[in-house]
Amino acid sequence: PYTEFDMAYFRAYSHIGVHEEMIKDRVRTETYKSAIMRYQHLISGKVVLDVGCGTGILAIFCAFAGAKRVYAVDASEIAVQAREVVKDNNLSDRVTVLLGRVEDVSIGEKVDVIVSEWMGYMLLYESMLPSIIFARDKWLKPGGFILPSHASLFLAPVTNSDRYRESIDFWRDVYGINMSSMIPHARLYSFEEPCIETISGENVLTWPIIVKEVDCYTITARELETVTAKFSFSSMLTAPLNGFAFWFDVVFNGPANSSSNQPEAPLGSLTDQKPEAPLGSLADQQPEASSQSKKKVKSDEGIVLSTAPEDAPTHWQQTLLYLFDPIELKQDQKIEGSVTLSQSKENQRFLNIRLEYSTAGRSFVKDSMMR
Ligand code: SAH
Repeated sequence: PYTEFDMAYFRAYSHIGVHEEMIKDRVRTETYKSAIMRYQHLISGKVVLDVGCGTGILAIFCAFAGAKRVYAVDASEIAVQAREVVKDNNLSDRVTVLLGRVEDVSIGEKVDVIVSEWMGYMLLYESMLPSIIFARDKWLKPGGFILPSHASLFLAPVTNSDRYRESIDFWRDVYGINMSSMIPHARLYSFEEPCIETISGENVLTWPIIVKEVDCYTITARELETVTAKFSFSSMLTAPLNGFAFWFDVVFNGPANSSSNQPEAPLGSLTDQKPEAPLGSLADQQPEASSQSKKKVKSDEGIVLSTAPEDAPTHWQQTLLYLFDPIELKQDQKIEGSVTLSQSKENQRFLNIRLEYSTAGRSFVKDSMMR
C-alpha cells in the first residue's frame, strides 16, 4: 500500500525541475546513453523494463537501440508526460508507458533487460533500489541483463577549512561586531545534517574505503536495511580533519563480467544465455574477468559513472558529514572507526547515519539523518 511518504516521494518527482536537473547532468545521461548503445546487441529485439522512467528518456534510448518492446513504468504523474514524449517520437507501438509503482503494475510478460536510474544521494538515500530488486525478482527472465550492474559506495576523511571559515569563523567578526555567540547555532545549522556539496580531490585526505558494494543481480532488500563498514584511515597530509565525504560509482558491465561476480550462477549459463553476443567480445573478456578480483568490480570493459571528488561533477555532488570542531591531523595519523547506515523507522526513505571515529586517543560519535 502507498504510505504518505510514498505519496510525497512520487509527488516530488512530478515536478519538471527534478527531471530537468537529471537530464542536464550530462555525466549521468551520457553515461547511460553510452551504456545502452554499448550493449545494443543485448537490447536489440528484446523486451526491456525501465524502472522509474521519468520523462521516458532511458526507455527511448532503449527503443533507439532496437528494443522490441519497452515497458516504461513510473508512479509519478511525470509518466503522463512520458507518454506524450513517446507518442511525439512515433514510438507508441514499441514503448508502453505505465503509470504506477513497479510493485503494482502488471506487465504481462517477463523481460530480458532491466534499465533504471535509481541512485540517490550517497547512493542509498531515497531507497529506490528495493524497487529494482522487486522488479528483478518478479519480471526479469533467468539470465536477463541489468543496467547498471554494480555500484559501490565510498567514504573518506576530508579537509575543508574554507567551508569551516565561511560558516563558523564568519561570526567572529561581522562588520566589526563580535557575533561569536552565534557559533553554537551556526555549528548546528551548518553541520548537524549531511550536506550535499561539491568538493575536489584536493579535499580528500586519503584513499577511501568501500562502505557497500552492490551487485544488482544478487543484492537483496534485506541487506540494505543496515549497512556497516569499519575503517582505518591514515591521513596523507598534515591538515585539519573537517569531516567525511561519501560518494559512489555505478558500473555498466556486460554479462561476462557480471557473472564473474556471481559465483553461484550455474556453469554454462554464460554461453547458454547470450548466444547473440559477438563471439570475439566474450572470449576477449573472459581471461580478464576471471583474473579480476571478486571484490573490485571496476573493469576496463565496463562503463563507469563516477561521482568521486576527483571526477567531473554531477548533480549528486558528494555527501559531507562535517565535524562540529576540526581535528588537527598529522601526516600518517590514523583515524579508526565505523559507519552504519540504516533505513529510518519513521520513514524508510530517510537514512540514519552513525559515524564512530577515534584518533589520537579521543573517540567521537556523530549521528545524523538524511531526510
Ligand atoms: N529514468 C529517468 C528518471 C530517473 S529518477 C531518467 O533517467 O531521467 C527516478 C524515477 O523513478 C522517478 O521519476 C520516480 O518517480 C520513479 N520511481 C521511484 N520508485 C518507483 C517505483 N517503485 N515504481 C515506479 N516508479 C518509481
